[in-house]
Amino acid sequence: MDNIEQKIEQLKLPNSSKKLHAVGRLLVDKGVDSLWDLDTKTLPASGRRWRKKARKFAEEHIKPFAQQADLNPEGFDNNLLFKKAAKQGFLTTAFPKPIGSAPLRLFSKNAAFLTAIVAEEFAAVDGGLTLKLMAPNLGIAPILLGGDVSAIFRYLIPYYVGSTWFGKTKTMSFAITEPNAGSDVEDNEGGATAKLGTTAKKVKNGYVLNGTKLFISNGAISDATTVFAKLEGEGIESWTCFLVESWREGFTVGRHELKMGQRASDASELIFDNVFVPTKNIIGKLRGGWPLNKNTLNFSRPAVAAMALGQARGAFNSALQYTKEKYVGNTKMIEFQEVQLELAEMVQELWAARSLIWQSLNHFAMPQSIASATKAYASDTAWKIANKSMELMGDDGYLHKNNVERFWRDVRLTQIYEGTNQLNRLAIIEHHLKTDFSIL
Ligand SMILES: Cc1cc2nc3c(=O)[nH]c(=O)nc-3n(C[C@H](O)[C@H](O)[C@H](O)COP(=O)(O)OP(=O)(O)OC[C@H]3O[C@@H](n4cnc5c(N)ncnc54)[C@H](O)[C@@H]3O)c2cc1C
Repeated sequence: MDNIEQKIEQLKLPNSSKKLHAVGRLLVDKGVDSLWDLDTKTLPASGRRWRKKARKFAEEHIKPFAQQADLNPEGFDNNLLFKKAAKQGFLTTAFPKPIGSAPLRLFSKNAAFLTAIVAEEFAAVDGGLTLKLMAPNLGIAPILLGGDVSAIFRYLIPYYVGSTWFGKTKTMSFAITEPNAGSDVEDNEGGATAKLGTTAKKVKNGYVLNGTKLFISNGAISDATTVFAKLEGEGIESWTCFLVESWREGFTVGRHELKMGQRASDASELIFDNVFVPTKNIIGKLRGGWPLNKNTLNFSRPAVAAMALGQARGAFNSALQYTKEKYVGNTKMIEFQEVQLELAEMVQELWAARSLIWQSLNHFAMPQSIASATKAYASDTAWKIANKSMELMGDDGYLHKNNVERFWRDVRLTQIYEGTNQLNRLAIIEHHLKTDFSIL
């Protein structure tokens, strides 16, 4: 790097903006900010503050534990991390102040804007702990998007107030996936033929749930889960969302999956064996589960895109650092133009993904095609960048201690969950069938 700077210096070209008139100086970039700083400047003041705060938190409280939580997720102390995150308002980003922590300027752009900002910063140091801290947003989303004010007062507000005001470490999860229904419950065509096994039977004062959900992020540690079940004897058109507290009789956690990446967060099987839930635990409307599910996914996909971007940034940073230190023969890797071209391409891609995510989050009501395009593009791009980072680092990239292999494993998941990227691409087309394919 020093060599490159020296070479530029030797050219003696008058690049300084001091050579311009005062008004001109106002209009030109001084060329001293990082891309991170330049992008941060485009946010409203509250967004700028949160972005900086999230980066600081990630460096201080997530990064030091990333390796440990990946290698030994069972032995990791969740409580401490949740407590610190709760106290600083990172677990309540989907609702405005003073109940949640979202500044009104950001919330009025999109309810997930602050979550996406935080998710990128956290994921830039670790994907697994980020999923652990972000998954509760998915659990809470049906309550927010269901729009039932009494449910918001009963569940969301106490949960959020407990977290932001008293630093309580409760957590939530979201359960749609079943042994025979994965992608099927993530698009309309699949939904129409989905073989659903989780049922809710009407009884006095409530419903009795039976069935199994699979791959539920944070399922084993959640205090409550928003669970989607069809009514007994009916099909998916009767799908209804129920809030199931983990203390309810008949609820148990089954198998914990042994995952390739994002290992710090558990993906668990949830078993419902005659679990009674009162009628007041219905979230949204009875038989309103399908649109609620779709809107929840639309709400959360841009935040998943931001997680993917963060992980790619983490991998890129490791690779960049490596090229600055590693010698090939007598030359530092970064001095080779081939390497510079690779790095420049990665920067372009990272920046394009962030621009897309932030642009998408300007939609107050998130359209399906935009949510899906954002998630699929950002996670595919992130995967490419993590892979290229590993390539640049050669055998060193393959070593656990250098972090890139962890980002590489972690980021792969963002192409799979919240609908595989194939399904998300189909969702773009499905949405625009309604507009007679006038996509652009
Ligand atoms: C670690 C992890 C965490 C998860 N967390 C949660 C969670 O918190 N809550 C939750 O409810 N779920 C969760 N999931 C489930 C996740 O969303 C689904 O696994 C995912 O959507 C894919 O579904 P599937 O595994 O059944 O794949 P399948 O549906 O079996 O797909 C298999 C293949 O077929 C393709 N395919 C399927 N349908 C079509 C089609 N119509 N056209 C073209 N190709 C198609 C898919 O793209 C894929 O390549 C999680 C999954 C994982 C792995």
